Amino acid sequence: MRHRLFAAFLISFLAVVTSWAQPPLKLPGYRQSLINYKSLHFELYPFMTDFSMPRHAIVPMAPGSYVYNPFSGGTRFILHLENFADSDWCYLLRKSKVISPYGGRGGRHHSGTDIKSFPNDSVRAVFDGTVVMAGPFSGYGNCVQIRHMNGLTTLYSHNSRNLVKAGDQVTAGQVVALEGRTGRATTDHVHFEVRVAGCHVNSNLIFDHEHHRLHKHQVVFEKNGNAHIRK
Ligand SMILES: [Zn+2]
Repeated sequence: MRHRLFAAFLISFLAVVTSWAQPPLKLPGYRQSLINYKSLHFELYPFMTDFSMPRHAIVPMAPGSYVYNPFSGGTRFILHLENFADSDWCYLLRKSKVISPYGGRGGRHHSGTDIKSFPNDSVRAVFDGTVVMAGPFSGYGNCVQIRHMNGLTTLYSHNSRNLVKAGDQVTAGQVVALEGRTGRATTDHVHFEVRVAGCHVNSNLIFDHEHHRLHKHQVVFEKNGNAHIRK
């Protein structure tokens, strides 16, 4: 009995050690110039503690699957938006306007930005990335989450239809869903969220929603969830 326990322990120990010892993955679409070099580390990321998502909708993180952890180099990281080329980003909805901003809304914190164009309009991925979740998710309705190699995760919800599935690689500008009003929504729109290591951040820091442009400044993200424009 003791031997068996020891063997089981040894096997699980070796499994952990070998999965951590694997070299960093070179992921497609990844450009080093987009992020600062200090935080260029790859780690196995504790996925299930990052998002409260239904298990069935999440990409299984097999041993050796790496996801970029932007805080592995310290408690803050800087996103250099000024280094993004035009092909590195895309605005999510073409002829749209913000109908409800991030932050306060009648005493309740609004975790995203509500953006509206018209029913079944194309919803586009804002950066290259990997779809980590695509499916119905309570009040969000049909929801797509994309993990980007710049450290951000973006979420697009209330979709009438999702056009991607968990595990898909997508490029900036790719249509990932159609605009809708599934879940808790009173009109057709996209509830758009930006998250960093599970914390919501204001998408206004990244995008100029009025002109549908990516900002050209640098954004500092803190591990505690704070984010601000670097002066
Ligand atoms: Zn919303």
